[in-house]
Amino acid sequence: MRSIQVAADRSRVKLGSGHVLYSLYSGLEKYNLTTLGGRVAGVGLGGYAIGGGFSSLSPAYGLAMDNIFEYELVLPNATIARVNQQTHSDLYFVFRGGMNNFGIVTHFTMRAVPQGQVYGGSWAFSSQTRDAVLQQAYDLTTVWKNDTTMAFYYTFAYDQSLDDFSIAVSQEYALPSESDTLRIDWLSNFGTDGISPGGGRNLYATVTYQPSVGLDRKLQDILIEELQPIKSISGFSPSLAIQPLYEAAVRANHERGGSAAGIQAEGPLTGMSQTTSHAIWTSAKSMKFCKVQSLTLPVVLFNTRWDDEKDDDAINALANRWLQRSLAATNDAGKTHPWLYINYASKAQDPFAGYGEANLRKLTAIQRAVDPNGIFTSKGLCRGNFKLL
Ligand SMILES: Cc1cc2nc3c(=O)[nH]c(=O)nc-3n(C[C@H](O)[C@H](O)[C@H](O)COP(=O)(O)OP(=O)(O)OC[C@H]3O[C@@H](n4cnc5c(N)ncnc54)[C@H](O)[C@@H]3O)c2cc1C
Repeated sequence: MRSIQVAADRSRVKLGSGHVLYSLYSGLEKYNLTTLGGRVAGVGLGGYAIGGGFSSLSPAYGLAMDNIFEYELVLPNATIARVNQQTHSDLYFVFRGGMNNFGIVTHFTMRAVPQGQVYGGSWAFSSQTRDAVLQQAYDLTTVWKNDTTMAFYYTFAYDQSLDDFSIAVSQEYALPSESDTLRIDWLSNFGTDGISPGGGRNLYATVTYQPSVGLDRKLQDILIEELQPIKSISGFSPSLAIQPLYEAAVRANHERGGSAAGIQAEGPLTGMSQTTSHAIWTSAKSMKFCKVQSLTLPVVLFNTRWDDEKDDDAINALANRWLQRSLAATNDAGKTHPWLYINYASKAQDPFAGYGEANLRKLTAIQRAVDPNGIFTSKGLCRGNFKLL
């Protein structure tokens, strides 16, 4: 399940779906190759790649799912299928965004990218520098978005021991920082930087909107206000991670014939999520940015960890309040984008609703056709994650 078969021309690699991102990167590094993987070593290739897949290579090539040329999978009727644009164009389409509603993937054939070590890492800043960080992140999302060798995201995180917030952001940011992990290294090693302590409980939620410094700040302010009554909860460590979905990623999606996820953007999407922060450039040459006007969209991830089950209700209430108020803010600004990254969405959210009616109709029709016994539905044997039926 962790096999690696590099094509003779080195343009593609067939990967067993049992890889975690560390085994994937370190296995490909032996060939001086990489692929569209995520940022933290222990994340599984399977869920990451079928959900979408933000990668440090996304500004150049799009999401991981837009760089999968073939899926080998076990269908609900227990037969094995090789799904690509030619053999099963419908299944190929729905698999890119349809999550685990259609079968179990055993192998992914993905784009292979020649890559040695990269320049990356993260810089930590105190909350006093927030205004400058917000402006810099906005510029990186809008003005510099066509530098496809550069990828960044930043997190705004609560530190319970200091009762204060901290920010981690990319090296482009020129203020004196408090610490950094910048270096030239392999992607596999950067992946181990972001590993958080094991155990505990975790929750995600996400919002996508058009780029706006005012909204970045507002969503952070909502978190600051809402966490006050519960900030002493054991092991509580909420954060917002903000990363852009660049126009190049949207274009890559269209080049693969569009996907079920229905990402339509007139510019980069910013998403904010609660998670750990990290910043990577795919090469040192990305330090030179070129200004080319085009469109991009931002995305936010809200993530929190906590220790005890007894605090679940309080944490869920916090996440729901943050979501509702954040959506109200993006709506008021007329900047809400309907696409929600399924791998960042909370159980209270419905990412399929943002895929668009036509895509949803197509997804459910194909689900019924390939899975007449409902094995991959909410009443079947594989009930986890977001279900179409
Ligand atoms: C620390 C951390 C860092 C992250 N960093 C990133 C990042 O950089 N970029 C990004 O885009 N996302 C990131 N994520 C989100 C990540 O993409 C999702 O959490 C994803 O669901 C992880 O997949 P998994 O296989 O590890 O999880 P699992 O919980 O095992 O799987 C998730 C879902 O996918 C299904 N699934 C898994 N494998 C298969 C398969 N082979 N066939 C069919 N269905 C399958 C499972 O049934 C399950 O419903 C991160 C998450 C964490 C916890």
